[in-house]
Amino acid sequence: MATGKINVSVENIFPLIKKFLYSDHEIFLRELVSNATDATLKLKHLTSIGEAKVEYGNPKIEVQVDKENKQIRIIDQGIGMTADEVEKYINQVAFSGAEEFLEKYKDSAKDSGIIGHFGLGFYSAFMVAEKVEIITKSYKDEPAVHWVCDGSPEFTLSPAEKTDRGTEIILHVAEDSTEFLEEYRIRELLTKYNKFMPVPIKFGTTTETLPKPEDAGDDYVAETVEVDNIINNPNPAWTKQPTDLTDEDYKNFYRELYPMQFDEPLFNIHLNVDYPFNLTGILYFPKLSADLQVQKDRIQLYQNQVFVTDNVEGIVPEFLTMLRGVIDSPDIPLNVSRSYLQADGNVKKISNYITRKVADKLKSLFSENREDFEKKWNDIKIVLEYGMLSEPKFYEKAGAFVLYPTVDEKYFTLDELKEKLAATQTDKHDKLVLLYASDKDAQHSYIAAAKDKGYEVLLLDSPIVSHLIQKLEADNDKISFARVDADHIDRLIQKDEEQISKLTDEEKDKLKEAVETVVPKATYTVQLEAMDSSAAPFIITQPEFMRRMKDMSKTGGGGMFGMGNFPDMYNLVVNTNSNLAGSILATEDAAQRESLVKQALDLARLSQNLLKGEELTAFVKRSFELIK
Ligand code: ADP
Ligand code: MG
Repeated sequence: MATGKINVSVENIFPLIKKFLYSDHEIFLRELVSNATDATLKLKHLTSIGEAKVEYGNPKIEVQVDKENKQIRIIDQGIGMTADEVEKYINQVAFSGAEEFLEKYKDSAKDSGIIGHFGLGFYSAFMVAEKVEIITKSYKDEPAVHWVCDGSPEFTLSPAEKTDRGTEIILHVAEDSTEFLEEYRIRELLTKYNKFMPVPIKFGTTTETLPKPEDAGDDYVAETVEVDNIINNPNPAWTKQPTDLTDEDYKNFYRELYPMQFDEPLFNIHLNVDYPFNLTGILYFPKLSADLQVQKDRIQLYQNQVFVTDNVEGIVPEFLTMLRGVIDSPDIPLNVSRSYLQADGNVKKISNYITRKVADKLKSLFSENREDFEKKWNDIKIVLEYGMLSEPKFYEKAGAFVLYPTVDEKYFTLDELKEKLAATQTDKHDKLVLLYASDKDAQHSYIAAAKDKGYEVLLLDSPIVSHLIQKLEADNDKISFARVDADHIDRLIQKDEEQISKLTDEEKDKLKEAVETVVPKATYTVQLEAMDSSAAPFIITQPEFMRRMKDMSKTGGGGMFGMGNFPDMYNLVVNTNSNLAGSILATEDAAQRESLVKQALDLARLSQNLLKGEELTAFVKRSFELIK
């Protein structure tokens, strides 16, 4: 048997790093600008603690594209490197100078905003460049150096002419990466990844019009000057204290984040924690429509003001992925490519924190200005209802601010409703009945009947409302929900006094038979009911339970697979005290009686929106005949 050691040489690893370390080649620019930013922030820190005796000034980072010479240059005015430091930080792959710096200045530098972490970012340059040069001069009094490497493990290091402090990285762009020599492409990348980085980034120049002098005459011609084109906002709103920001500041920042979005956010939530993890950010509630899928993935994740991803799955609870805004946390564990999140304890804590913070904000919005909260309710309800169903921690808190609007646009909390109903409903039912409608127009006649009796009717029209109702009933054993068309109103909410039927048992049998010969048995169950003579003679109802189960299966109710294929089942309630019931019984001619029943049935169907197509045409024709 032979044993040995597998020989992993640099020659083997280098091409691997180049090819597979980062799946996205475009991130080279993010990494190099991050290094330039780190170099600048390190200098800032060292000058602030008096360790670097140089003027910090107003350093910026410049990105240049030289298409003719196939070069991209990233120039900073940061701490630079001595020859020894190049040997140490650049020539040792996977040795992070950033981590070393943070370790060395542990106590003072923890809030310095330094980005680097793995000691691999620099090498991403070789994903797009066939040769990379570094010309750098340290803030220390040492000569500048010039490092050149063509992607093989060999490099050269020689003295350089550079006299001013800082580092210039020159990428000789490879044939397969010439897309990055296009100015628009670099602008796009800078906007995507570096828009809020903490050091100003110059990319080209723009012209600016000078203000018109006070003493300018009529013949004044506007003067323009060339100025640096700074592509980033080094102090984005989320890095500031909430107390230093006005409503307008928050709205402006929303526009900065989504320049193509023209709606105004409804409200914002400023996130700010530093224990047990570090996280800042601003979330916005946008106006939402019912189609939630298309509105997802708008929250941007940053680490120390560097854009990482707009997929925040796992970090933000699912129901809040419809929100917009920014989350910045150095404590979200990312793998080297920073593009995939790993599920770990910190991430769960972050997700819970966000849920709690959102619930607290909603509660305070509700209690501080209920009227305004009610106005916004319809635009936010879908998110909150979804949150109640999917996030137990949110559900616990939601009772304090979740509203149930009525068809007349009054808004109640569940507790308020219970109190109100307890005062009006008798104890015939062992539960309080909450009447609701899902469509004001389609259920108009039922809503009207309920309102005639003095009942409030809720308007619950979200697609997931059946699921929510089911959950609320399961958790509150004293309430039950009933859609207005689930039964005749007098049966949904029973009164103490009962109606007595005017018909004899024999007459009832005859009436039932007359109706049943006309209505399709597969769809309708005929029920005789003694009601007020003024109530509609024929009423079609759809029992709550079956309908709700069907609704739930349509919107993804677990375990109810296939229910969507069940036929619709209705009850046809015939009012035995109505004049029509009398007329049907009094009509001797069978054909005439049938046509009477048919007409009444169709009218009932019409009020449930069930009369369509051919049957509707026939009904209209028959009705014209009748009034001729
Ligand atoms: P990391 O940023 O994770 O430390 P990198 O591979 O991106 O790893 O960079 C390695 C090291 O090289 C940095 O930590 C830093 O010490 C040094 N370095 C890279 N770019 C610059 C720069 N523009 N100015 C000064 N030092 C730099
Ligand atoms: Mg780096």
